[in-house]
Amino acid sequence: MSSQEPKSDWLYQLKRKMLLSILGVLTVTIVVTMVFIAVKLRDTLVNDSKVRTKELAVTIDSNLHHLMILRAPDAIQKTLEKIVEENEAVSQVFILNNQSKVTYSSNKEAIGTSIDQYEEGSCRVCHTLAGTAPETDAIVLDTDDETHRNISLIYNEEDCYECHGSTATINGKLIIDRSLESTYSLIAGIELILIGSGLLCLIVLVPLFSRLLSRGIDKYILEIATRNEELRLLYVMVESLSKTLDMEVLKGIVIDIFKDILAADEMVLVLARGQHDYSASVWTSASGKIERKKISEDDTENEVVQSWLEGTLNVTKVSADVKEICMPIEKGGQRLALVVARKGDGQFDRVRLNLGAVISSHIAVAFDNARLYSIAITDELTKTFTKRHFRQCIDHAFAEYQKYGNKFALLMMDLDKFKQVNDNHGHVAGDAVLQHLGEILSHSVRENDLVFRYGGEEFTVILPATDAKGALFVAERIRAATEAAVFEPGTIDLKLTISIGVATCPDAPTVHDLIVDADQALYAAKHQGRNRVIVSDKKYEYS
Ligand code: GH3
Ligand code: MG
Ligand code: MG
Repeated sequence: MSSQEPKSDWLYQLKRKMLLSILGVLTVTIVVTMVFIAVKLRDTLVNDSKVRTKELAVTIDSNLHHLMILRAPDAIQKTLEKIVEENEAVSQVFILNNQSKVTYSSNKEAIGTSIDQYEEGSCRVCHTLAGTAPETDAIVLDTDDETHRNISLIYNEEDCYECHGSTATINGKLIIDRSLESTYSLIAGIELILIGSGLLCLIVLVPLFSRLLSRGIDKYILEIATRNEELRLLYVMVESLSKTLDMEVLKGIVIDIFKDILAADEMVLVLARGQHDYSASVWTSASGKIERKKISEDDTENEVVQSWLEGTLNVTKVSADVKEICMPIEKGGQRLALVVARKGDGQFDRVRLNLGAVISSHIAVAFDNARLYSIAITDELTKTFTKRHFRQCIDHAFAEYQKYGNKFALLMMDLDKFKQVNDNHGHVAGDAVLQHLGEILSHSVRENDLVFRYGGEEFTVILPATDAKGALFVAERIRAATEAAVFEPGTIDLKLTISIGVATCPDAPTVHDLIVDADQALYAAKHQGRNRVIVSDKKYEYS
């Protein structure tokens, strides 16, 4: 397992899509907001301009009334001129009489000219037909995009009826043209500021926000990717654990798993065999090998192994410097194994330790399965493998031979005159002899060789990668060891011998032939006087 950041492309693609969507929404929101503000401001400013134009009209109107009453035409004319002079925004002020003739105007040249209400664009809004009366009496109009025209009616009042007939209710019209130029330049300025701030948001804030968001998301992506990687590892490990029931193979897998998860430099795996019996294997990063180990009193792990055997170490113990962990593995109260892991440089990673704790329950199941399988294939009395397992192993060895040409040999053996032991000393004594013989056989062969109890006092041994000469050597060693042994079933000492038949795989064409050949060789050994080894000389014709 690598300690690098786990990569997960699909997560980063998802992140990219998510960020783009968020930034897209953000950009659209900023643009819409800016446009909305601009439109709203524009309306407000234009309306404000209209209101001010109207206010101006009301002021002028009241002044003019006063001047009209005073019958001061020059003053009226001067007032109009002054209004234009003092109000930069007002471009023109004039008064029309009832015949639509300009009687007073800030622009003197216009005095006396007529305005055709039907021709004048702004008049047509109120005068639906030429010569008709306006439909409203005070109006503010847009003459074009840049000017507001305010038209207000000048009514007769009681005080001024001397100037005109009392029947004429409308004396004239005061018209003010107010330029929108300054309002529009203000709007343009505001719009410029809005566009500027919008662009600033898009160019500066959006990337900044996206970076912050991206960092925030990265944290979670890393977390998800790490969990994903842990799950993947867990899956791979659980799968590898479920692939074997062989305790030896399992030991290797478990050591591999722990050294990978914990990045340990040294591992000791202790397997429970009995109440106070155990076997230990050690692996170091320096040797790179798994080796059997006899734990002595001087070994650092001796204390923890002893407390584990005594039942006082039930939970994982992590040393204060986080450089050593001792993890007992058990299932249903059954003590199965103890893992001791050490780190040379640095400390164990806490997250990895948790992963180790998670996998330990799967390891417990695997060890328990292997333990149960071992019980199922082991003969209780002699601790050798059962006859059922013999069938599986010999079929497997024969298949391997056919596939890869791996030779192997088969020994078939039977205690000599064993019936007499039972007859003379009883079956309990006979059982004790068989138990002792099981130990002799197991100690007389290599680690790879397999010993089986084939029947009552009949045993077989499969010797992988062994030819007839090698098989004869092993068989002779077994025979000699049995002959040399003193069997002590109870209070008596017994001397026994064994007869052995040998057959090798390259000679026999089938498993059945091989077993028959070994059996016949055993029969020959019995026939020739017992306590001897006979190698099958059966030759097969191959076409
Ligand atoms: P030989 O093989 O030399 O011809 O003589 P033998 O006396 O050993 O003859 P045989 O192999 O036929 O005897 C087998 C005896 O082994 C028969 C039976 O009483 C005994 N036996 C078989 N299984 C067990 C067992 O599980 N426990 C005990 N105590 N005896 C068993
Ligand atoms: Mg027999
Ligand atoms: Mg016998």
